[in-house]
Amino acid sequence: MVMNPFLEGVMLSRWKVLWSLHNQVLRNQFINFKSVSTYKDIPGVHAKEPKLSPQQFGCIPHVNDKRKYKYEEGKIYHGFQCERVEHISEFELTSYTFRYERTGTELWHIDRNDSNNVFSINFRTTPFNSTGLPHILEHLSLCGSQKYPVRDPFFKMLNRSVATLMNAMTGPDYTIYPFSTMNEIDFRNLQRIYLDAVFRPNLAFLDFLQEGWRLENKDIMDKNSKLVIKGVVYNEMKGAFSENAQIFSQNLLNNILPDHTYRYVSGGNPLEIPKLAHKDLVEFHKKYYHPSNARIYSYGLHDPIKTLALLDNEYLSDQSWVDNSYSLIRQQERWTQPRFVHISSRLDNMGATIDRQNQIAIALLMCDVTNIQESFELHVLSEVLIRGPNSPFYKNLIEPNFSGGYNQTTGYSSDTKDTAFVVGLQDLRVDDFKKCIEIFDKTIVDSMNSGFDSQHVESVLHNLELSLKHQSPHFGNTLLFNSTALWNHDGDVVSNLRVSDMISRLRERISQNKNYFQEKIEEYFANNNHRLTLTMSPDEAYEDKFKKAELELIEQKVKLLDEAKLKKIYKSGLKLDLYQKAKSNTDILPCLTMNDVRDPPKWPKYFIQNMQNVRTQICKVPTNEITYFKCIFNISGLSHKETQLMPLICNIISAMGTTNYNYREFDKRILLKTGGIDLKLHLIEDVNDSKSYSLCVMMNTHALNNNVPDMFSLTQELFKNVKFDDSERLKMLIENYISYISVGVASSGHLYAMLGATSQVCDAGKLKSLLYGVDHIDFMKNFVKSTSMVEICDKLSDIVTKVFNKNNMRGAINTTQSYMPSAIHNYEIFLETLSAFEKTKTSRNINFFEPSCQQYVMNIPVNYCAKALFTVPYLHQDHPTLRVLAKLVTAKYLLPVIREQNGAYGAGAKISSDGIFSFYSYRDPHSIKTLTAFDETYEWLQSNQNVIDQQSLFEAKLGVLQQLDSPIAPGNIGIDYFLYEVSQEDFDRYRNRILSVTINDLLGAIENYFGKESMHYGKCILGPVNKNLEFETNQKWIINI
Ligand SMILES: [Zn+2]
Repeated sequence: MVMNPFLEGVMLSRWKVLWSLHNQVLRNQFINFKSVSTYKDIPGVHAKEPKLSPQQFGCIPHVNDKRKYKYEEGKIYHGFQCERVEHISEFELTSYTFRYERTGTELWHIDRNDSNNVFSINFRTTPFNSTGLPHILEHLSLCGSQKYPVRDPFFKMLNRSVATLMNAMTGPDYTIYPFSTMNEIDFRNLQRIYLDAVFRPNLAFLDFLQEGWRLENKDIMDKNSKLVIKGVVYNEMKGAFSENAQIFSQNLLNNILPDHTYRYVSGGNPLEIPKLAHKDLVEFHKKYYHPSNARIYSYGLHDPIKTLALLDNEYLSDQSWVDNSYSLIRQQERWTQPRFVHISSRLDNMGATIDRQNQIAIALLMCDVTNIQESFELHVLSEVLIRGPNSPFYKNLIEPNFSGGYNQTTGYSSDTKDTAFVVGLQDLRVDDFKKCIEIFDKTIVDSMNSGFDSQHVESVLHNLELSLKHQSPHFGNTLLFNSTALWNHDGDVVSNLRVSDMISRLRERISQNKNYFQEKIEEYFANNNHRLTLTMSPDEAYEDKFKKAELELIEQKVKLLDEAKLKKIYKSGLKLDLYQKAKSNTDILPCLTMNDVRDPPKWPKYFIQNMQNVRTQICKVPTNEITYFKCIFNISGLSHKETQLMPLICNIISAMGTTNYNYREFDKRILLKTGGIDLKLHLIEDVNDSKSYSLCVMMNTHALNNNVPDMFSLTQELFKNVKFDDSERLKMLIENYISYISVGVASSGHLYAMLGATSQVCDAGKLKSLLYGVDHIDFMKNFVKSTSMVEICDKLSDIVTKVFNKNNMRGAINTTQSYMPSAIHNYEIFLETLSAFEKTKTSRNINFFEPSCQQYVMNIPVNYCAKALFTVPYLHQDHPTLRVLAKLVTAKYLLPVIREQNGAYGAGAKISSDGIFSFYSYRDPHSIKTLTAFDETYEWLQSNQNVIDQQSLFEAKLGVLQQLDSPIAPGNIGIDYFLYEVSQEDFDRYRNRILSVTINDLLGAIENYFGKESMHYGKCILGPVNKNLEFETNQKWIINI
């Protein structure tokens, strides 16, 4: 469950498709200081980071040592009996399990010295149709409750809180409502709203029409206009299933577990959603959101007794126990014969050629998720089988290079009652389906017969152990997400945290029985008839078929309507419109005050030292025995052509091998000694004046302290001795890279649209689009078509000789105080070995363009719109004002108009540190209407000046503080200074200016920056063909097909 940080707080990814590893497509780089989003790595080439707490078995006795615990086993606290207390040393946490005696509601509290507190209410929700009932209920619960009868308090609270996460998600068999915040007052505020929302929602009919589905006149003012289906979830799911990855994942789930709730689409099938009636939803809530069917999670430093008291007083004491076995999910009955299913998808015009745009997955059902040690071992075995160039599936299935690499379903999935192992390929020919199946079978037989290289197994275990020590600022959320499925099936989530025990148990079993994994392969892989082969091919008529089915559905409904009913629909449309436009009484919602947020969070200090003429940033910080090392090389001196190949080089460089180690050996060493060596390209504008920018490559790695010498020597090996002469290997990596960047463009469509708009503003923006945007995909496709492999090898080899120049380098080390001297010692040895040649140009000038517009035509039924204009960069005094303004415009104008009234899933405005102010929409049924709304921001603000009052100003500031004050991992402290040279003092000044922005400042900024059309702006649409674009917008458009 990877949350896209760009969606956080703006668009809520409320629905999660199981199996999907959520594309972490962040090839762009809108800089938000204090956001570590630039660290998202491009997966595919490297081993997947193992999950934090994989499953294990449940027969471990309670380990009650002599420690003094805050709450005692057996004692009652506000009607909750404390049932179980355990200390888990590897995570330095204490787990308390409470149960409310009257209702049986379980509350799991994790006491840990971490200020990022988490709270969540989870329900087991098992739909038995595909009307999207649990999903629509999830939306509706957040549309106002007994104590807070405010429409969408959730969205409203986004601006009244400093939450680090606020979300709700519908899984295949659960619905969860989590939030996290570092502020205690905020925690209590949100807790009250969340509890009231889930236990006492209003579930109003008008909200059902808005969020679920409704039949309505296309133009609500014209009762003779044709009737169409509208609704937030209806549109959301149409958008979701416009992405082939979603279609594939959803079908895999439905078909491998067909006997029970998993055969249905919990998010809702657009053609089934209109079968849902409001009363079904009310009944579903009564049954499934009963306290006896709820699980409550809390995590952090706060006092759980206050939570227990609140629950007891307000929500639970008048309820009684019900038997919740109605929501239990039984084990899937095993098949006696393997099954094959073929499905169709939309033709993705940005993807591979039509003959290669097929996908296949072979899935095997594994064990019960509550069998935690077994599940843990199968997880490790899966990694051994599929990850990296030393795994058998990679060698046999990926290296022959007949596909575009693994697809997003590949891996071990433990999100359902029965777990599953999946291997999937993307971008292959129909003719190769058979080949894939044969290789799959052969690989299983070979692995069963010959076993694995012990070092390869060890590298997988090492990575797992390292990831346990790696500190994440969102530990509490990760723990929740990784425990949700197991908990949902009454699994032992506490024992599941003892990962080190599981690892040692597994090590012991392997050492006692050399054939341990081979026997598992025989049992679960070779002799397993519960096996699904799912294939998918594009159908050019896919969209037409859907449209036809949708039309038929509408016709059927319309046929039943008489004059009176038609009139009712027309009136209902007007009524809903009024309801949506009515000002809601947000005053009853709690809100933080200025005093609650005045103090900035304190981060450890870092300082700069010059070592062998390399500027080095040192940060002593508790890192749990891990040393983090980053270095940056300024490559602004490269030619334009060379620069364009840098994203590719960064992606594949550590997978090529070196003069001393072939790529298998090199990969093994990296995994045995480090957490990976990752390179990433950054385009960094001057935050002072936006007159110039630089291009940098950043290398990022970390290792356990005792592996630090190896970490440096491996990095040195990569920098000095990387080889691009294996043309077969290179060809495969490049083709997989192109497949990887070409799939799932729509899922991050708003980011691509913003890049497309920015590329019309200035040459640095244009380059960004060529390095991270849709233009990069086109460039890469053309490049491989027009260049021979020999030439490519030469070009890449030539470029890397220019990149790793000590004279263009900076370094950064974050580690514990006691280990720092050793780390520096090893770093100095590393520096001595680096090549130093002439210092090259370190920056380039930025040139601005005349305004223009462009569209990327995509074969999807929704749009992603963006407008970008140049204002002022980060260090300019107006930047904080504009940032507050962006939040205000999002909350008061863009969300109400583009989301609530016009039916887009999301919309917003933001300013990045380079001074580009962007508007965007997400899964939007409109395009021109939305761009017009962007253009009319000034007029709207002029005629609605009353919305700019003290409260809305403060809320907008809180929105900015959510980003500025978000927690940061120890390994990333000082990253803003390292990358952008924004010092702690700059940051503090910036934060103070945010706090002191006044209404007059806002009015001044509105006049200055939006009063007249900007000199430098661009617009961009990602979406279907629109022949009227130029006519209706009265502007010239560049159309990219
Ligand atoms: Zn949703």
